Amino acid sequence: MKAKIVLLPGDGIGPEVVYATVSILEALAKAGNHTFEFDEQLIGGCSIDRYGTALTQEALAACQAADAVLLGAVGGPKWDDPSARVRPEQGLLGLRKGLGVFANLRPVKVYPRLVDASPLRPEKLAGVDLVVVRELTGGLYFGQPKGREQRPEGERAVDTLEYYDYEIRRIVEMAFTLARGRRKKVTSVDKANVLESSRLWRQVANEVHAGYPDVALEHVLVDTAAMRLVSNPAGFDVMVTENMFGDILTDEAAVLAGSMGLLPSASLGSQGPGLYEPIHGSAPDIAGKGIANPMGTALSAALLLRYSLKLEKEAAALERAVERSIEAGQLTGDVGGRLDTRQVTQAIIDHLSL
Ligand code: NAD
Repeated sequence: MKAKIVLLPGDGIGPEVVYATVSILEALAKAGNHTFEFDEQLIGGCSIDRYGTALTQEALAACQAADAVLLGAVGGPKWDDPSARVRPEQGLLGLRKGLGVFANLRPVKVYPRLVDASPLRPEKLAGVDLVVVRELTGGLYFGQPKGREQRPEGERAVDTLEYYDYEIRRIVEMAFTLARGRRKKVTSVDKANVLESSRLWRQVANEVHAGYPDVALEHVLVDTAAMRLVSNPAGFDVMVTENMFGDILTDEAAVLAGSMGLLPSASLGSQGPGLYEPIHGSAPDIAGKGIANPMGTALSAALLLRYSLKLEKEAAALERAVERSIEAGQLTGDVGGRLDTRQVTQAIIDHLSL
């Protein structure tokens, strides 16, 4: 197949992990007889330095016209002033909006070799393999009204948790579809004992469930879900939830794996290109040293192959290659290894078999 992939390396270690992943994708393309055309664009701090904006219209248009977008990370001390008018994260928000991606998928898998890197006891981690599906464009972060005002009683601040049924339906449907290809269990996380928006969420989740009788559905309150993520994480398969709940739970779930450098993510809409990026930031403390862990970005590329290019065989081969590198102890320092980015990348390439 022929595919056009826009690269947004960004700042800090972003370029290091994205270029490493490109060499893996090139090896896969060669093995599978595919042509991947890469188009590199700027995002974040480097775009601010060059163009005065975190994402230009041209860069966004290139992303919109691509089959998929692979992003590194944005930000760093140089652009960290919270009062600055232009900030690197604006590039991310503009990109998500411009691509219409409403679902953020974060798979978390614990590899037996790395159980000691996690703060949880090894026996709690056996069999952990879950995906959190977070709603990305609605809910508490975007609902209106939002703001502050002076009143006779004092200064008042308000945020609104708002959802339309169609916003809930499309993301819950995505979770069920995903669960069908996995262990066939969806956990819908809400706060239906208190929030009206959660009662609508639960109602719609039940309606969607009727179309997926082969998949089990459970409803769990967000506070209970937070507890179960540390007390019995292996009990989850696909979790689906509102924007802010998902923001918190995805970070909690990420801790299970032991390192930020290992975890991938995908942001998807109903159509158009998906956006794939590791969950870590630009890691300014190690940028330029050549020691960044490329696995989170490589696993993001596996999601890209699976969801945007529909190349399941190649996606699985890449995931297997990362797993083999982990099991062989071919690791960067953040997960207890001694190899650098280039050596780990080569190890992954050597383990690829289609
Ligand atoms: P971070 O994820 O960049 O780093 C946290 C710690 O994890 C650091 O010690 C870092 O060295 C380590 N780490 C992260 N990724 C690694 C990798 N691939 N290999 C080895 N070690 C890795 O988070 P932070 O330090 O809070 O943020 C740094 C900058 O990144 C900030 O400017 C922040 O705004 C930005 N950031 C960007 C994104 C994004 O682009 N999506 C996400 C989070 C933070």
